[in-house]
Parts: sequence; C-alpha cells; structure tokens
Amino acid sequence: ETQSEAIHEAVEAMADRLAEEKEHLTDLDSAIGDADHGANMNRGFQAALERLEETDGDPAELVKTAGVALVSEVGGAAGPLYGGSLMKASQELEDGITAETTVAFAERYLETVEERGKASVGDKTMVDAITPAVHTYKKAVEVDDHDPLEALGKAVDAAERGVAFTTPIRAKKGRASYLGWRSVGHQDPGATSTLYLLEELLAVAT
Ligand code: ADP
Ligand code: MG
Ligand code: MG
Repeated sequence: ETQSEAIHEAVEAMADRLAEEKEHLTDLDSAIGDADHGANMNRGFQAALERLEETDGDPAELVKTAGVALVSEVGGAAGPLYGGSLMKASQELEDGITAETTVAFAERYLETVEERGKASVGDKTMVDAITPAVHTYKKAVEVDDHDPLEALGKAVDAAERGVAFTTPIRAKKGRASYLGWRSVGHQDPGATSTLYLLEELLAVAT
C-alpha cells in the first residue's frame, strides 16, 4: 500500500466514523452550543472523501485537498480550525510520511489551531484534546524512541484524557463560553470529534 492510499483509507474511515457519531456529536453540541457539530463534521468529511476520490497526488496534496473541502463545507467555528490547520500542516508532509514529518505535521496542526482559535488548554475546546495528543506523540517518538504506531497509540490515550478533562471545566472560547458556568459538566463536542479522528487514524495505521 502506498502512503497516498493510506491517506485515502484514513479519510474514508474518518468519514464513516463521523457518520456513525453524527447524532452523538449533535447531542453534545445541543447541550452547550447550537446542535450542529455532528452535521457539520459529517458533511465536511463526506465532501473531503468525495474530493479525494477524484484526486491523485502525494500525501501533502491529499491532506491539503481534504483541508480545503473541510473549510468550504463545515462552516462554523470547527470548519476553518480543522480545515485551515490541515491545509497548513500538510506542508510538513512534502517529503512523505515518516516519524520526523509526522511530528512536524502534528506540531504545525496544533500551532495553527491555537493561532486561529486563540484558545489554549483549559478553555474547553478541541485544543484540550489536540495538545496532549501532540505533546505525547512528539515525546514518544523523539525522547522515548518509540515507533510512530506505538507513539500514535499513546497519543490517542492522551487525547481521551483530554476529552474527559473538558467535562468539569468552564468554556472560555466558542459558543459554549456564552453559557459561562452552565457549560460545566458537559463534554466538548470538538474535542470529542478530534478523538474520533485520531482513533480512526490509529485503527487504519494498525
Ligand atoms: P459552531 O460552534 O460554530 O456551531 P461547531 O459546533 O461545528 O461550530 O464546533 C464547535 C467546536 O469548535 C467546539 O466544541 C470547540 O471544540 C471548537 N471551538 C470553538 N471555538 C473554538 C476556538 N476559538 N478555538 C478552538 N476550538 C474552538
Ligand atoms: Mg455548533
Ligand atoms: Mg454552528
């Protein structure tokens, strides 16, 4: 299997998972937002999948294409954050997929989300899932010398803890922040969808 085929497969798995989780994500967003996160993500990943089916290219081009589709189809807060960050981070895959380029990709993705959303850890957003995942991945690869697959497994566990951490805290960014303290006790939808995407990436890589 080529790296480009692996990306097609990953996006397909992600699109299927988001279709399955559409109602659950919408329920989460109805508690602290406007009840559209499931529909937004499902629509975006179906569009990304369709565009990839018509696209041949190297991994960087494919990831960029998926990002463009998300920006144009998801809308809301999550569209530009997911899509724009994938577009930016795709530049790090120009030399293909290796332990080194995937660490650079992950860091660039996190940086771009933070830059565009102006959120940091503890604001009850997708950043609470992405940050521990990226830091864990980087440390596992660069410090502990794990292979990328094992590192990704650890990153998924870290993201899961990050998602759990969004429940007891108060939202400080995005629509949920309008609720103030009433956002406490609800799991963040965007952190949750981030976890699902990472789980599918791991499943496809395994
Ligand atoms: P909208 O809030 O515009 O309806 P979605 O429902 O699709 O968009 O996405 C909501 C998710 O987006 C939130 O659960 C949160 O994780 C994420 N989000 C919102 N604002 C920000 C932000 N400023 N920075 C990072 N993530 C954010
Ligand atoms: Mg919403
Ligand atoms: Mg909305």
